Amino acid sequence: MSNQRIVVFGSIVQDLVSYTERFPRPGESVRGTLFKAGAGGKGANQAVAAARLGANVAMIGMVGEDMFGDTNIKSLSENGVDASGVVRTNKTHTATATITVNKEAENSIVVTLGANLEMCAEVADRHHELIETSRMVICQGEIDEKGNRRAFEIAKKHGVTTFLNPAPGDANMDKSILEIVDIICTNENEAEFITGIAQNSVEDAEKAARAMLQMGPRHAIVTLGSKGVLLATKDVDGVEHIRVDKVEALDTTGAGDCFCGSLAALLVAGHPISQSVRSAANLAALSVTRQGTQSSYWKIDEIREKHPQFLP
Ligand code: ATP
Repeated sequence: MSNQRIVVFGSIVQDLVSYTERFPRPGESVRGTLFKAGAGGKGANQAVAAARLGANVAMIGMVGEDMFGDTNIKSLSENGVDASGVVRTNKTHTATATITVNKEAENSIVVTLGANLEMCAEVADRHHELIETSRMVICQGEIDEKGNRRAFEIAKKHGVTTFLNPAPGDANMDKSILEIVDIICTNENEAEFITGIAQNSVEDAEKAARAMLQMGPRHAIVTLGSKGVLLATKDVDGVEHIRVDKVEALDTTGAGDCFCGSLAALLVAGHPISQSVRSAANLAALSVTRQGTQSSYWKIDEIREKHPQFLP
C-alpha cells in the first residue's frame, strides 16, 4: 500500500479570511461581513484535497511552536493526512495568509511565510525514506526552492513521480528544476513567469504549455479558471482544452490547490492523465461553489452521491 502514497513536500499556512463588499483602498478601512480562520497553505491544501478523495497522503512541512502550528497539524490529521513528517521550529512562527474576498468572489492575499522558509534541502534529506517509498511527490512555490529541488532529486533516483505546482509565481524561480519534473501544473500567471510568453488568451496558454514541455516535464497543465484546463503531453500532437461545467462561483480561493491535489489522487489511483485532468477540473469547479479553502473541498462520498459524473 505504501507505494500508493502521495507525499506533499510543501507549505502549511494559517488562513485568516475576511469577506467584504469590496477591497479597501490604501489607507482605508472597510467593514467585513464575515471572518473565518482556517488551515491552509498550498501544500496542506493539496494534501487535504487528495486525502478527501481517498488517497493515502503524507505531508512533510514545518510550523512554529505556536497556536496556529497546533491547529494546522490537527486539521491535517482530521482530514486523514499523515502529519508525522510535519516538523515544529522555535526559530519562527507558523506561516499566515491574510485573505480578503470581495463580493465578486475575487481574492487578495498577503502571505508571511515564517516556518515555510525553513523547508530547505536538509528537511528533504531528513525525510528521504518517506519520499523514496511514495508513488508521487508534490511541491509548490511557497517554500525554499532548494528544498523542492532536493525532494525531487531524491524522488527521481527512486522512480517516484515528481509533480510541481510553482505557485505563487516567482519571476526569479530557478527554471532548471523543470528538468526533473514529470508533471508541471501552473495557472496563467505562473505559465508566463516560467515561459516569458505573455498570457492574454487561451492560445497564449497553449503556447506556454508547449514551451514548458520543452523544459523537461512529460505533462504540462495550465489552469484557466472558469475556462477549464489545458493539457499538453510529450510526443502527443496538440494541446487538449478541457472545459468545466458552469457553476455559481462563491469563493475561488484554493481552487488551484483542489485541482492539483485531486489530480494527484486520481493519477495515483491509476486513471489516465486526460480523464484525471477532466475530473480534477470539475472537482475544482465544485470547490468554488463553497466558501473557504480546505473546507470547500468535496469528500469522495459526497461526490459519489451528488456528482458521480465528475469521477472517472
Ligand atoms: P487559486 O489561486 O484561486 O487557487 P488558480 O489561479 O491557481 O486559483 P484557477 O485556474 O483559477 O487556479 O482554477 C483552477 C481550476 O479550478 C480551474 O481549472 C477550474 O477547473 C476550477 N475553477 C476555478 N474558478 C472557476 C470558476 N469560476 N468556475 C468554474 N471552475 C473554476
